Amino acid sequence: METLQQINRTKSAALFEQAKQYFPGGVNSPVRAFKSVEGTPLFFKKGEGCRVTDEDGNEFIDFCCSWGPLILGHAPKPVIDAITETAANGTSFGAPTRLENELAELILNNNRYLEKIRFVSSGTEAVMSAIRLARGVTGKSKVLKFEGCYHGHVDALLVKAGSGLVTFGESTSAGIPEGFVRETLVLPLNDPELLEETLRKQAHEIACVIIEPIPANNGLLLQAKEFLGFLREKCTEYGVLLIFDEVISGFRVGFEGAAGHYGIQPDIVTYGKIIGGGMPVGAYGASRAIMSNVSPDGPVYQAGTLSGNPVAMAAGKAAVIELLKEGFYEKLAAKTEAFLSKITSYCTVKGYEVTFPSAGSIFWIAFSKNTIRTAEGIDAGSMSHFKVLHRELLKRGVYLGPSGYEVGFVSAAHSEEDLDLAAAMMCEAMDVVFER
Ligand SMILES: *Cc1c(COP(=O)(O)O)cnc(C)c1O
Repeated sequence: METLQQINRTKSAALFEQAKQYFPGGVNSPVRAFKSVEGTPLFFKKGEGCRVTDEDGNEFIDFCCSWGPLILGHAPKPVIDAITETAANGTSFGAPTRLENELAELILNNNRYLEKIRFVSSGTEAVMSAIRLARGVTGKSKVLKFEGCYHGHVDALLVKAGSGLVTFGESTSAGIPEGFVRETLVLPLNDPELLEETLRKQAHEIACVIIEPIPANNGLLLQAKEFLGFLREKCTEYGVLLIFDEVISGFRVGFEGAAGHYGIQPDIVTYGKIIGGGMPVGAYGASRAIMSNVSPDGPVYQAGTLSGNPVAMAAGKAAVIELLKEGFYEKLAAKTEAFLSKITSYCTVKGYEVTFPSAGSIFWIAFSKNTIRTAEGIDAGSMSHFKVLHRELLKRGVYLGPSGYEVGFVSAAHSEEDLDLAAAMMCEAMDVVFER
């Protein structure tokens, strides 16, 4: 096989050296540091459609898409126009604007699972606020989460399973007080018996169960619909609120997210990523009754100087209008499926140990033939394959997020031709991965 040159990263590498003087690890969010793949991070200077260009002028078909927000691709005209027009009239007032109503109206009128919403500025903030709301409503304090789900960097949720079944967790970050960790229970995904046993014993102190209904932050750990249905049923039975963290799945697998996809009504839903059209926006929503507990209507305090920021609202609104167009999600899912089935057929014929689980336009490269539904099911050793794949794809003009635990995203801006080209590059790169 022809050996391709490594990409030129002279300028990116110099910028990274400089960035290391300013930021811990040279970055403002850890996964960007390329710790799990080869080389230094690429510094991007332009995005257009499904393509990004780095500081050295390398161009890539992008499947990271800013980790999910860019469902319309980079710099979609309606969103950029809305941002520039709105910004020209002032970027923030700290007072209500019409744009908040307009975005909320588009969302609430087209989502059967929500009656009221509150805008915040990130997914983490949405989750943190939703947990406080659940505690405020129930008067209970513990939170039950699942191993392999990510909910942002909320103190009480940076917790993984400890040793032993259903014990308290261990924090995954320094700086989290013991007392916070004790408020969090961690269970494996896809284990209905353990879930029921835990609720039977401890529901009297559990405020809420939080889950990514389509877990997409640690591989793509697709859950059986039956498990999610069971979870819904048991939360109701035991008087525990169910939070769907839809920061990734919301507006991604369909306009109503995973709730709509599975037809399951959560008690509280959190959003982020897509909802801001590429600007920093998060949100949480629920029934009118539950939301009536939020300040200033109710006793659960939550606020934000830049919440409902007009420029971000305008971006979100312009994006949401596109998502509501007839057939948007069907088309995107069909494109993704065609793309993945090309690569899958190739890898199957070649006998490569790799599969491509997907949900709508989210996909994961799993170096395993098994259906993986739990965090434990992921073989850490297989990540060495991802390292090679990542390097080989960069050489071939395809950009994936720099970790094998992360999923990829197809956007509306990826044309069939772009996807055919990317599929061909993916097949070539797989040859290198498996024929070393
Ligand atoms: C990205 C993500 C978060 C955190 O959102 P930030 O905007 O990064 O704070 C929370 N939950 C899920 C499911 C996410 O995917």
